[in-house]
Amino acid sequence: MKFETSAIHVGEEPNVKEGGYGDVVIPIHLSTTFARKSVGTPTQGYEYSRTRNPTRDALEARMAKLENAKHALAFSSGMAAEATLLLGLLKSGDHVVAFDDLYGGTKRLFNRILREHLDIQFTFVDARKTEEVQKKIRTDTKLIWLETPTNPLLKLCDIKEISQIAKEHQIITVVDNTFMSPYLQNPLDLGADLVIHSSTKYINGHSDCIGGVIMMNSATYHKKIQFAQNAIGAILSPFDSYLVLRGSKTLAIRMKQHQQNATQLSQYLENHPKVARVYYPGLASHPDHLLAKRQMKGFGGMISFELDRDLESTTKFVESLKYFAIAESLGGVESLIEIPSVMTHASLTEMERKHIGLNDSLIRVSVGIEHIDDLLSDMEEALKGI
Ligand SMILES: *Cc1c(COP(=O)(O)O)cnc(C)c1O
Repeated sequence: MKFETSAIHVGEEPNVKEGGYGDVVIPIHLSTTFARKSVGTPTQGYEYSRTRNPTRDALEARMAKLENAKHALAFSSGMAAEATLLLGLLKSGDHVVAFDDLYGGTKRLFNRILREHLDIQFTFVDARKTEEVQKKIRTDTKLIWLETPTNPLLKLCDIKEISQIAKEHQIITVVDNTFMSPYLQNPLDLGADLVIHSSTKYINGHSDCIGGVIMMNSATYHKKIQFAQNAIGAILSPFDSYLVLRGSKTLAIRMKQHQQNATQLSQYLENHPKVARVYYPGLASHPDHLLAKRQMKGFGGMISFELDRDLESTTKFVESLKYFAIAESLGGVESLIEIPSVMTHASLTEMERKHIGLNDSLIRVSVGIEHIDDLLSDMEEALKGI
């Protein structure tokens, strides 16, 4: 089955057998508990919805398929998925090597909770250079945490090379694949052990449901993380599972349009005299363009760019746009725009921002699937005004 077909059918096969109603859309199973015929045997394996729920099961089956994985687990947010994964696999004293340019919430979880409260150690490296990752591996290193492309500067690291080295040292490789979605990049196929998505973003795609999902092939990791999922309890609700099932049906067609619009917008911006620099992995000018071509099936819908202006004019520019809502988050059908230094990345110190190369005039765009002519004319007008 091809991706587009799986995204519609897996987990939602109509039940036309005796007792089934043949619904083509999965019912939302709101029941918190499931009655049994006899004390010893749960009905079809269902006991209590924190542990397992039929609607969530359907979503997990589909999510596994989309990442070519054997297993998937769905959580109440991307952060809940991350925390559960790490609590399920690590213990105090363990060491983690992580890309230094990660989603802010991930860094906060690592530094403020896992390091400060649980004594898990972190070393942050510029993972664009595989040898930097290798150099930081210690005898107590248990896990490597990658995100590629990163947010907001769209830096890439080589999943295949790093996973290979990790394997030689019996280290687990985790890739946050939120920015690409399972349609455009499949880290497990490149050797990673675990993939994590904030399904809040492209997978659900309609900016109406917070969620997270982990995909994996290993039965051992699945068992451990599933145990932690039930023990901790940060599960995705039946209603939200339904929303993600619904949203994910159009993932392929949305990603194609996001990407087509992002490609045209990035080319337009790159040729505009008031734009100093554009970051988009699909541009030949992107430093990791060749790796992007090798590792990803496309270049995605996220663009960052710098105006040749200060924060004041940058703010004025962003505020004068009509179709780009000023908002954090990404991956929905509607275009969003933000200034990382004062919005998504405001919690970083100025030093940290400088270190990763993020300046005040940087603008991040989650390019939606509106008509490109409207997006381009909106940009044109706003650029004229500065
Ligand atoms: C949004 C995001 C997260 C966190 O997910 P939530 O659903 O907001 O908890 C993690 N990683 C990346 C790359 C993200 O964009």
